[in-house]
Formats: sequence, C-alpha cells, structure tokens
Amino acid sequence: MSAPALQTSYEGNIQWAWDATSLKRASTCARKYYYENICGWQAQSKSVHLWFGGIYASSLELFHKLRAQDMPREEAILDVILYALRESWDFDLDDAGEPIPGSGSPRTFDNQYKTRENLIRSLVWYFEEWRDERVTTLRLQSGEPAVELSFRIPLDDDIFYCGHLDQVVQDEDGNIFIHDQKTTTQGLGSYYWNQFKPDIQFAGYTFAGKTVLNTPINGIFVDACQVLVGSSRYGRMPIFFQDAELNEWYDEVMELVERFRGYAEREYWPRDTTACGNYGGCEFRHICSRPPEFRDNFLRGDFTKAPRWDPIKPR
Ligand code: SF4
Repeated sequence: MSAPALQTSYEGNIQWAWDATSLKRASTCARKYYYENICGWQAQSKSVHLWFGGIYASSLELFHKLRAQDMPREEAILDVILYALRESWDFDLDDAGEPIPGSGSPRTFDNQYKTRENLIRSLVWYFEEWRDERVTTLRLQSGEPAVELSFRIPLDDDIFYCGHLDQVVQDEDGNIFIHDQKTTTQGLGSYYWNQFKPDIQFAGYTFAGKTVLNTPINGIFVDACQVLVGSSRYGRMPIFFQDAELNEWYDEVMELVERFRGYAEREYWPRDTTACGNYGGCEFRHICSRPPEFRDNFLRGDFTKAPRWDPIKPR
C-alpha cells in the first residue's frame, strides 16, 4: 500500500498521519476513536478543563516565546495577561466570524476552581513562583529559540507522526526536555505525577523531539499548577525516557496503527468497556450503554458533528 499525497490524514477511514491525540484515543478505546476521529462527534459544550488548561498553556507558551525573543520580563507578562483576558472573553462575532471589539462578556467557566479570575491569578503567581527561573529555552543551531516546533516524522513508508512542540528547555545540568504545562485540581503528590509514565503522549513527544532536533532529549519537563479556590500551587517534575523505552513506544505505535487499519477495512470499531470509567468517565458512556439501534439518535441529540480530526490540517 503506498502513501497518499498528504492533503488529509486519511484515505477513507484509514489514518496515515497520526498525532498524540489520535494515538491517545486509539489506545483508550477503538469506539471512542471512531466517534471522535472518524465521525467528528464532539460534546456540545467544551469541557471547562480543556478551556482553562488550553488558555493557561498557550499563555505560558507565549510568555516563553516573548522572553526567548529578549522582550523584557515585565513587558512580556503584560502582553500575556492581556492575551489571557482576551482568550477568556466571549466576543460577539461579525458576519465574517471575527470578534467585534468592545462586545461580549467574560466567559462563564461554571466550575468553582477553574474560573476566569483563578486563571489570571494562576498565571500571575506562576511568574512570581518561577521568577528566578533556571530552566531556559534551548537555542537551535540557527540561534533561534526552540519554541513552536511543528513536526511530521515518517515512522514507516506510509505512516507519519505529526504534532507541535511548544518549547524545548535545558536545565542547569544541561539536560534537555520538552516542556509541558498542566493545570489540575488534584494535589501534586506521587499519585498525580505517576500518571505521566507510562504514557503514549509523553513518550511520543520525546521521540519527536529527539528526531526533530537530532539531539539527545531526556524526556518531558512537566510544570504543574494546582488550582484551588483561593490560591494556586506549583510543582515540577522531569519525566525521563530511555532509548529502549522510545523503541518500545515505536513498536507499540506501529502495532496500533496496523490494528486500526484493520478496523477501518472491516468497518468494525470494538468497544473497550474497561476504559469507560477513565478520567472521570467517558462522555460516550450513555451512548455505549444503549442498544446499538438507538445510538445514532442519541449521538445526534447530545453531540455536535465537526469535521473529522485531522492532524495535518491547521486548527
Ligand atoms: S463509553 Fe466505553 S466503550 Fe464507549 S466509547 Fe467510551 S470508553 Fe469506549
């Protein structure tokens, strides 16, 4: 089978270009992957955790990018807070879908911890917590800072792994890591940190960083913020991956991709009922728990249909 021209990540329902999100869904449950990647079903309201975590991470990505471009610290902080305020504001849209300046209202996050106020506080406190930062953005051989690195790596003749590395950092000892920002309401104890290994996403990011930069990458540097009602707490943890573990990731990904090619050819997407309770419960649980003939109606009523998840198309 030959690789298609990559205008899209799929040929029929066979996925050629995979990203961390697709791999995570596929490794969780084939039916979940089918609903989300192939059919494009999305929950009608985006999870508050995705909104909050997404704005927090993109704000800090912007901060590190501005600092790597030598913008003075206080100026970068102001830019970032303005960005986060705008991102957490629901503007009215004009006919072209563009935000109308001066319109709209603050977004309602509908969560006692993950509110707009706590988002801004968590960012401001982050800058204070890590004021004497000893982890710096890696410089590429070109002299450019290693931020916003998009990649598309051939894994095999016709299979690609794609994605985006927000920032690559170096610690005081010269260890190089992919930087990842997380927010949580959980305590930052061993139970929290243990979830990151084994992990198909983090091993994949390490594999990608190593391949793209052609340099040893030690793993992922997780910067976590515990968001509480009246305060925010911070913790950091390097998650190391050895070469042998990355080889294991590669073998498992290739097996997964091959298996899913088979599912696509047979149009058969089995449920993995051991995964239904993961991460607070799968959003498709009330669909999968109904007889097959009723599921489509409930999907149409309770979800919205978006274009299928496509890793090589800009979102
Ligand atoms: S409810 Fe369970 S079986 Fe259904 S998609 Fe989710 S994880 Fe899979």
